[in-house]
Amino acid sequence: MTKRTFLTTTLLGGVGIVAGARYLRPDKTFTAMHTDPDASTVTVRLVDENGKLTEPLTVPKVTMSDEAWVARLTTAQYNITRSHGTEQRFCGVFHDNHKHGLYTCIGCGLPLFRSDAKFDSGTGWPSFFQPVADENLGSTRDVSFGMVRNEIHCVRCDSHLGHVFEDGPKPTGLRFCINSAALDFQEDGVKPAREKVLFGAGCFWGVEANFAKVPGVTNTRVGYAGGIKKDATYEDVCSHKTGHAEVVEVEYDPAKLSFSALLDAFWGMHDPSTKQRNGPDIGGQYRSAIFFTTPEQETVARASAARLEKSGKLFGPVATEISLAGPFYVAEEYHQKYYAKHGAAGCKIP
Ligand SMILES: [Zn+2]
Repeated sequence: MTKRTFLTTTLLGGVGIVAGARYLRPDKTFTAMHTDPDASTVTVRLVDENGKLTEPLTVPKVTMSDEAWVARLTTAQYNITRSHGTEQRFCGVFHDNHKHGLYTCIGCGLPLFRSDAKFDSGTGWPSFFQPVADENLGSTRDVSFGMVRNEIHCVRCDSHLGHVFEDGPKPTGLRFCINSAALDFQEDGVKPAREKVLFGAGCFWGVEANFAKVPGVTNTRVGYAGGIKKDATYEDVCSHKTGHAEVVEVEYDPAKLSFSALLDAFWGMHDPSTKQRNGPDIGGQYRSAIFFTTPEQETVARASAARLEKSGKLFGPVATEISLAGPFYVAEEYHQKYYAKHGAAGCKIP
């Protein structure tokens, strides 16, 4: 066994990673692709329904106020991703996760790492030798704590993830040392019997009534999402200070209704080219929005929106907000199934 083989073997076994590191010459140095920090869009790769990477796509950057991040994240997630914190080693939920699947950004849902690039570094933090796509990571020089390190963050929402070191195993020689709290995980082949998504398309009374009629939809609830106020009420949302949209939580049976077909119903029930309004309902609470819950839903939604835009059926570009679902606050009981209870009277269906 050569020294290099020995070192690689011990690295893969998670032993001696720091002691052996200085003898290893990395096969690759990670250099994040150039991104303009002031740009409103960024080029990334998503993952399709078959787990395959898409071609590079230009998508809006996710920028939120500090208050909005506080509302969306747990304290631990916020401390790591927005305050450049580090979780205690061996304490994160994913450092010992050996399941096969996809790790995504906790802040925006962007695919970041796959389990087949994960290895046991022995450091106590989830470690990967390569990202899903180089496009999806950004890097900055970090000189804190008297060390020079390369910080790694999500290129779409700037969430701090961890650091990259040049002492990883083959084939890259890199070690992406990531905090569990910065990640979410979707296990391969584990499909729930029911999936959920949140849609905004104007007054939620009529939107809920329309979705309830779609075959394959198994349940609907109306509520508020996409804003910053916790436990928002209808009165709060109507103050126009919460940032929330009126949304319908749609639960559906993916064996009977594809997400693509559900999107066709969504596009057909409103004009997604109007901004901050729908029909006679004016204001951000009535905005067109898709709050996805899985990476596949995002990919399908963006492709569907692009097809619709190219079709020439709209008066302008699709204005629909497509972003990761955050907290959903169920609306008051009198708003639930309103149209079924009271008919169309008083409901301004777009
Ligand atoms: Zn992100």
